[in-house]
Amino acid sequence: LSFSSCNFPQKLLQNIEAAGFEMPTPVQMQAIPAALSGKSLLVSAETGSGKTASFLVPIVYLCANFRFEQFRDRKKPLAMVLTPTRELCIQVEEQAKLLGKGLPFKTALVVGGDAMARQLHRIQQGVELIVGTPGRLIDLLTKNDIQLDDVKIFALDEVDCMFQRGFRDQVMQIFRALSQPQVLLYSATVSQDIENMVSSMAKDVAVVSV
Ligand code: AMP
Repeated sequence: LSFSSCNFPQKLLQNIEAAGFEMPTPVQMQAIPAALSGKSLLVSAETGSGKTASFLVPIVYLCANFRFEQFRDRKKPLAMVLTPTRELCIQVEEQAKLLGKGLPFKTALVVGGDAMARQLHRIQQGVELIVGTPGRLIDLLTKNDIQLDDVKIFALDEVDCMFQRGFRDQVMQIFRALSQPQVLLYSATVSQDIENMVSSMAKDVAVVSV
């Protein structure tokens, strides 16, 4: 598998190339086609494996390729990435912006330590992707400031770390605000707890490990 054999829009291929990605990494070779086919995934992958792009490429493709055309004009987010920390969210959003450059693909951060009003304003203008931490997302959900019921793809990054930080219930609460999205769950280590979580979120989960 190469990126150019993926039948991606030219713009997305250009962005992948501009990011310096020539060949997909092993996790990308497995996760990208599976995610594009609509499967939910449980992926065990470490930092440095290329895991971020392995969920962002399908997210950009599905959002920008009008797969969800009937939802687009509702201006609600179509995809969401949850990570344990503000810093990781910032990195993920940066990569998402690079991959989505020039495509109908806007992103917003929902993290602590940043002006809430500005984050909300951006979301209200209409974005395809939200990248956030559980705590700040719960804040907005509780106040009814954010609507996540059009989210079709839900990626959870570093779930073992989220569990260590005690975010388990918050993650489930956020999941319940979505309408049965495709789930892409990533973790360096996969415990029984994590397996239980993903099987409570989605049916027919494919397992990817590299
Ligand atoms: P990650 O595992 O997502 O933290 O990615 C680790 C690093 O690998 C990041 O700096 C990415 O920009 C880079 N990367 C991701 N995919 C590829 C690829 N296919 N080829 C080269 N570098 C990549």
